[in-house]
Order: sequence, then structure tokens, then C-alpha cells
Amino acid sequence: MSRFWNPVVHTLLPYVPGEQPKIAQLVKLNTNENPYPPSPRAVAAMREVLAGEGELLRLYSDPEGQALKAAIARRYGAYGIREEQIFVGNGSDEVLALVFLALLKQARPLYFPDVTYSFYPSYCRLYGIDFVTVPLDEHFALRADDYVGSADMGAIIFPNPNAPTGRAISLDDIAAVVRANPNAPVVIDEAYVDFGADTAIALVNEYPNLLVVQTFSKSRSLAGLRAGFAVGDVALIEGLVRVKNSFNSYPLDRVALAGAAAAIEDEAWFEETRQKVMKSREKLADNLSRMGFEIIPSAANFLFVRHPGYDAAILARQLREKRILARHFEQPRIRDFLRITIGTEVECEALIAALIQILQPHEEKIYDNHGR
Ligand SMILES: *Cc1c(COP(=O)(O)O)cnc(C)c1O
Repeated sequence: MSRFWNPVVHTLLPYVPGEQPKIAQLVKLNTNENPYPPSPRAVAAMREVLAGEGELLRLYSDPEGQALKAAIARRYGAYGIREEQIFVGNGSDEVLALVFLALLKQARPLYFPDVTYSFYPSYCRLYGIDFVTVPLDEHFALRADDYVGSADMGAIIFPNPNAPTGRAISLDDIAAVVRANPNAPVVIDEAYVDFGADTAIALVNEYPNLLVVQTFSKSRSLAGLRAGFAVGDVALIEGLVRVKNSFNSYPLDRVALAGAAAAIEDEAWFEETRQKVMKSREKLADNLSRMGFEIIPSAANFLFVRHPGYDAAILARQLREKRILARHFEQPRIRDFLRITIGTEVECEALIAALIQILQPHEEKIYDNHGR
């Protein structure tokens, strides 16, 4: 606290990121990073930026990220997406921060689920945005109907699949929400979409009020690079560019622009790694449910689970003692749950082995923790 702070700073409740520990040999299943390395083509492209004596870095990067936008437009070419419909930023958190300022602060309140990405209320406090939370149903599913037919929605945002639940809704449901609110911007945060949901980028050319945000951090294994993007109507993108150029003209450096573009072009690597993650998710879900965990159906690279007989906070602590990190949220409705990122096969096996020791030390044999 300081008397030198702007009064707004006193009111902020900043987002608390998952732990990024310095300890080696930890099984890190707490922040939804991809367990597999990024595309080797992305790494090679980044090395090229540093070629020679790194003289390229003497020059500013492209403020609009044209080559990256072209690569994204090609990837979504089947939906008729053009470069002018794409905005790139320093991780999707930065894209979202600009989206909240440019589009989600309206005269009427912003609506989002009661259980969702906890960064949203942080942005609202930062910008003074009124918000209303809409309860998920008793199975933690988002009901599109809750966002249809209410006259006073100024704007809407939710992740699909939702975080931290992992549940996805259909494109039909998203279209219904967007159609029912033609005067409100509707933002779909697709951080996890590549692990099992359909992208609403397919709907962008039908609806001028729809904006889709994606990241390179999860399905492209580039959380440390910081790259994200948004796709929407040209007029929405223009608004984002205006705000960006009032804040930071060069959000992406040359290394990130080159790495992200090469990553989105490497379709084979993307496909192989996301298939591996989805396969491990199904196996881990199976093993956890045999241990008595209740599992929310997940279309993401994590599972949201609870055990009727064990306290989630204590479980997280016991796992940590065994050098395995999972995420626990001390929040209403979800304090019984753990969010577990899908790791490599070996990491998933280590998790199961640790849980067997913690929960049911006598029943080791019934779990498929050695199968390949
Ligand atoms: C991980 C995540 C992001 C942020 O991704 P970055 O691109 O790494 O900033 C945004 N939204 C949700 C729901 C996420 O889980």
C-alpha cells in the first residue's frame, strides 16, 4: 500500500496465476501447459531471427504482425477469414485485456458465468466494468438459454470449453447466443478449443458482433512465447487496433512473431500433439473414475474432478508433497474440485501412482497405470 497509488489500484483484485516453481523434477499439472515441446519448425524459425549477431533485433518488430496474421488467415481459410479480420497480441491475456477495454465496457453490464476464467472479474475491476455472473447449471454446464432473451446484456464473454470446468457447448448454442444479442459484443475465449470443441471462427462471417480469441499457449505448446489472437468482423478488429496503438505499438517481438507463424503452419505437429493429449485425457479420466473421482466431461487439456471422500485442498497438498502440482481454487461452488492438466503418459502414470498411495494403498492392482 502506498499513498502514491492511483485510487483504482487499491480496489484491484489481481488474477493469481498458478505456481511456477523453481524446484526441479516436478510433475507440473497446475497451469495447463502442453506437456509436449513446440513445433521444431517454430523453434527453427525463432533461431533464424537470432542469426548472425542478432542484428535483426536492432530493428522494431512489425507493429501489425502482418506475416503472422497471414499465416492465421491461411489456417482458417476454409471459413473465408481475411487478414483484416485478425488481431494479434502478447498472449491472449493481453488480447483479452484490450478486448475488455475496447468492446466489453458498455453502458449495460457484461455477463459471464459464475464459474469461469478468474481473470474476467480482474479486468472488470481494472476498467470499472459492471458485470453480472450467470450460474452454470448443477452439472457445471453453461446453458445457452441463460444468455438468450434478457434485454439488458451489454456484452457477453465466456470460454469454450469453459475454464476451469473443461465443459464445451456446441456451435449451435453459441450461434443462438450471438443471434439473440445483436446489439451486444459476444466474445468466445477459445484457449482450449483445439482439444475437443468446435471453433466459433466458423461463425465470424455471419455475425458482426462475434469475436473469437485464441492462444498459442496451450495447443501450440508456446506458453512461454506469449502470443494470442482474435478473429472477428473488421470493425471489431479496428477498435482493438485503436486501443492497442494507444497502449503499446509493438506487442509482439520478432522472435514471437516468427515462432507463432511457423507453429500455426505446422499442422502435422499440432495434430499429433493434440491427439496425444486427448488420448491421455480419456485414459486418465478412466483411471480417476475407477478411483471414485467424479469427472466433469472435458473437451480441454485438463480434467476438473472431485472425490466424495477427500478434501480437494488437502489432496492438492498431499500431491505436492509427492512433487505433483495440481490446481485448487478456493472459490464458492468449486472448492471440492481439483483441476489437473493432462501431462505426458509418464506424468499421468505418476499422478495415478501418487493418488493410489494417498487414497487406497491396498488396491494398486485395479488401475491401468502401467499400460501403454
Ligand atoms: C490460458 C488461458 C488464457 C491465456 O492464455 P495466454 O495466451 O497464455 O495469455 C486465456 N483464457 C483462458 C480461459 C485460459 O485458460
